[in-house]
Amino acid sequence: MGRRPVYDYDMVVIGAGAAGLVAAGMAALLGAKTALVEKHRLGGDCTWMGCVPSKTLLKTAKVAHDMRNAQRFGLASFPPVISFERVMDHVRSVRKQVYDDADAPPYMEKLGVEVIEAGARFLDPSAIEIREASGQTRRITSRFFCIATGSRPKMPRFSVTPLTNETLFELTSQPKELLVIGGGPIGIEMAQAFQRLGSTVTVVTSDTRILVKDDSGHAEILREALASEGVSFIFERQVRALDRRPTGLIATLDDGQTILCDAALAATGREPTVEGLDLDNAGVKLGKKGIEIDRHCRTSRRNIYATGDVTGRYEFTHIAEHMSKVAVTNAILRWPRSLDEKHIVWCTYTHPELARLGESEADVRKRGSQCSVFRLPFSKLDRAITEGETAGEVKVITDRSGRILGASIVGVNAGEMISEYALAMRNGLRIAQIADTIHPYPTYLLGNRLTADQWYTRQLDSPLLGLLARVFGYRGLRKGASVL
Ligand SMILES: Cc1cc2nc3c(=O)[nH]c(=O)nc-3n(C[C@H](O)[C@H](O)[C@H](O)COP(=O)(O)OP(=O)(O)OC[C@H]3O[C@@H](n4cnc5c(N)ncnc54)[C@H](O)[C@@H]3O)c2cc1C
Repeated sequence: MGRRPVYDYDMVVIGAGAAGLVAAGMAALLGAKTALVEKHRLGGDCTWMGCVPSKTLLKTAKVAHDMRNAQRFGLASFPPVISFERVMDHVRSVRKQVYDDADAPPYMEKLGVEVIEAGARFLDPSAIEIREASGQTRRITSRFFCIATGSRPKMPRFSVTPLTNETLFELTSQPKELLVIGGGPIGIEMAQAFQRLGSTVTVVTSDTRILVKDDSGHAEILREALASEGVSFIFERQVRALDRRPTGLIATLDDGQTILCDAALAATGREPTVEGLDLDNAGVKLGKKGIEIDRHCRTSRRNIYATGDVTGRYEFTHIAEHMSKVAVTNAILRWPRSLDEKHIVWCTYTHPELARLGESEADVRKRGSQCSVFRLPFSKLDRAITEGETAGEVKVITDRSGRILGASIVGVNAGEMISEYALAMRNGLRIAQIADTIHPYPTYLLGNRLTADQWYTRQLDSPLLGLLARVFGYRGLRKGASVL
């Protein structure tokens, strides 16, 4: 037997965002000698420029919205006094708290990870050069690598550089008129947050609607909610130019229309962060969207994995984490675990939220299959009624046997509610089993059960029930009866 080559590490993870933190932590816990190389700060986009600051800002904006609308609950409404500087201080203090609690080097070191603050580039498939801030470089070798270098905003080319998620949360003064370029989750969340905090927001998108990857009817419910708060939308238009004028900025659209604003946020998609990594030296292939991986998150080099946004797949924190678990399970445990692309779930954290799981009705029909659709409007959900949150709907797609194929929920707490369907779907449960599960009353999650109850209502048309009615002599069976 040949001698096994000696490497400095068993696993080196490059990039310490959501993907890298999970990959490094898990590898170390499984007994691999692990290093985590990060060139900027641990936590990555999610903690510093993504999920955490955006959700904190949305919460503050919701409080402001509730103050303005308190009369709905029998209280006196009053306009919130907003100090943007203090709001942003709050946002920054929350992300610092998240960083200290779960991302900072001491936390990772406790898990057994060696944190190296440096940039990395490949020298060959088993070696990288790391460059510290001081300019010092050294070569380290590893048996396995996980590339988790994330993504950055796609930058439209204008004479003025628009804001992106990298600069938005560093603002110290509030834009009065904010132009949001892009109608995806980032653009839509920030449009609502800034509008509620007192900016006047216009969203321009080249698509025909917002949130094109979500259920169209549900996206429309959300658009209506945002429009009722004052957000303006311009569809099927591209911003061609953004220029500075003495009074602010002027955006010119492809039809010649102009929009005056004092800030513009580009939320027009992401691109993988790969420059400087010298992937060619390692023989790692880059595709159109990002680093190419197979279903085990393995790149074109067997010992090198890639996870998270750098692969251009889905671009969510929870998917980045899932990918890292898959990669480390394959690399360290040698257990052939695969990406679970059937149960992808995501949520846009506006008010109301919009969450999606698995296949949509359109997806199922496109592949030529039959499906059943079960819906429940939030206006039939007692908890939503008591809380004045009746804008929304649960929609569940099943095959004819009741096997769950997907779901979309728009409404308050949709992001929490969708997880029950995700658990059910992943474990092969049928919709009847959600209906048979006792849910506390009155909760939003009870909406899941009420939606599922319709499975039984629909059986009223089944020949079996007709047979039972005949056998037992019942006379009340009504075809087409509905609880809604
Ligand atoms: C505004 C906004 C809101 C979002 N909200 C949500 C949300 O609510 N829920 C959700 O699931 N997702 C959300 N996302 C998406 C989520 O933030 C990303 O999917 C997630 O952060 C990706 O993690 P990652 O580890 O792949 O990349 P990143 O977080 O980008 O981490 C990559 C790390 O690699 C480092 N790095 C890069 N190159 C090198 C190198 N050569 N050497 C060393 N280090 C390097 C970088 O400095 C960085 O720290 C949001 C994104 C944005 C922009």
